[in-house]
Amino acid sequence: MKETKYIFITGGVTSSLGKGIISASLGNLLQARGYKITIQKFDPYINIDPGTLNPYEHGECYVTADGMETDLDLGHYERFTGIETTRDNSVTTGRIYLSVIERERRGDYLGKTIQVVPHITDEIKRRILLNATKQDLDFVITEIGGTIGDIESQPFLEAIRQLRWELGSERTLNVHLTFVPYLAAAGELKTKPTQTSVKQLQGFGIQPEVLVLRTEHDLNDDIRRKVAHFCNVDVEAVIQSQDLPSIYEVPMNMMRQGLDAVILKKMGVSQQKAPEMAPWQAFLERREHATEVVRIGLVGKYDLQDAYKSILESLAHAGTYNERKVKAVFVNSEQITRENITEKLQGLAGVVICPGFGTRGIEGKIIAAEYTRTHDIPTFGICLGMQMMVIEFARNVLGYRDANSNEMDPETPHNVIDMMEEQKNVTQMGGTMRLGSYECELVEGSKVWLAYGRRKCIKERHRHRYELNNSYQEEFEHHGMKCVGINPSAHLVEIVELPDRKWYIGTQFHPEYSSTVLHPHPLFMSFVQACIKS
Ligand code: GLN
Repeated sequence: MKETKYIFITGGVTSSLGKGIISASLGNLLQARGYKITIQKFDPYINIDPGTLNPYEHGECYVTADGMETDLDLGHYERFTGIETTRDNSVTTGRIYLSVIERERRGDYLGKTIQVVPHITDEIKRRILLNATKQDLDFVITEIGGTIGDIESQPFLEAIRQLRWELGSERTLNVHLTFVPYLAAAGELKTKPTQTSVKQLQGFGIQPEVLVLRTEHDLNDDIRRKVAHFCNVDVEAVIQSQDLPSIYEVPMNMMRQGLDAVILKKMGVSQQKAPEMAPWQAFLERREHATEVVRIGLVGKYDLQDAYKSILESLAHAGTYNERKVKAVFVNSEQITRENITEKLQGLAGVVICPGFGTRGIEGKIIAAEYTRTHDIPTFGICLGMQMMVIEFARNVLGYRDANSNEMDPETPHNVIDMMEEQKNVTQMGGTMRLGSYECELVEGSKVWLAYGRRKCIKERHRHRYELNNSYQEEFEHHGMKCVGINPSAHLVEIVELPDRKWYIGTQFHPEYSSTVLHPHPLFMSFVQACIKS
């Protein structure tokens, strides 16, 4: 294939229909046919990136290897395709406006009036095409966040309309995702919201070629024909997306209904062979056979699934590859006390102490870290979780009762977790943390070194402002908390472990961002193995 083709995924009727999973599944299928692809997300909200958003608003913030704070859907893209996304794969209205306004201030527009059309829409189009100018790609899948009809979405829809006009019908295609509700009282599935949503899209000058209908019940042929008829879409291009036991079954479900085949046909691509889904299928079979449950606690302050999305998925991957079904049990760190900790962690084979920011719930994390250390329960501290392990050790083993992180107590005389030097003059909140991939050298003979297959040096993604204070390093080591992962250029401690415990490891980085379905993360693999054994 010579020219890159562009597939747009829009959504109507309601949010939370699973556009991200459909985009990731389509990417997966095209990749399994041998095409070079990427998936990008364009979010209509005004924030420059989701980095400053509260997880209650938007779920987890996912970090790319090149250090962009992005939407959690990028995590799905990477887990489904194994392709590393970059800052070019995540764009918001805020970023679009920022670059247009910066250019205006530089005088680049030579006195012109700056308008949504053409200046904002041109910038959207430039960014849609950007990935394919940097790498050789057959397909670029662009997911448009939000729901059509939102005021913020309009410039994006206009940009898509223009691109179709400019690039032609074989290089662009719109897949529209809608919802078909079931009215129990009437005993009927209703297609009207879908028809209305497509009409709305047509009002913006976009005719969807493929419809994916999210439904809780099976859609019969009559319903498909009806939708096709009223929406100007071929019957074979009406695909249903029913609730499935796992998101990882969606690609196979889409393939069985011919989502990828119908898209290729409409874009004029001849289809030699079916997608090579054997490795994916093998994962699904392993998953199905892994029925024995291992219960793992997630100690954190956000009592919503999406806040720890990548950790949950990483545990699930590692569970499957260890013939187990991981049951993640949320333990709210704000409710943990010395008195109830035994009961809170009862029946858990291991504990993850979760990342986070701010003081809320941290004493609970420290109590949990002490309990699991003294009871030798496998424990994985991630970022803030690692910092809490360090503080607990300083308080209870080194004897510094007032040990803390500068983040929680700027006055503490024992700042075992301290703000990084380069962070001290930072005043802006967004995108200014230590972000993205950094190298880390592993200490030979350590548990992490073994877990990573005896590698000398690894690379992992970061998102933090604070670090273990190097002036305490020797003291920690002397008392048994070993610093087994060090950044070679800045000498920052990236991993601590207690070698005399079954598995008590904290990482300053976030390994959960790089676990994929076909390549589970070595640390999660090793942690889950320890949980199974304990
Ligand atoms: N709040 C801590 C820091 O900034 C940890 C961040 C995190 O857990 N991602 O260093």
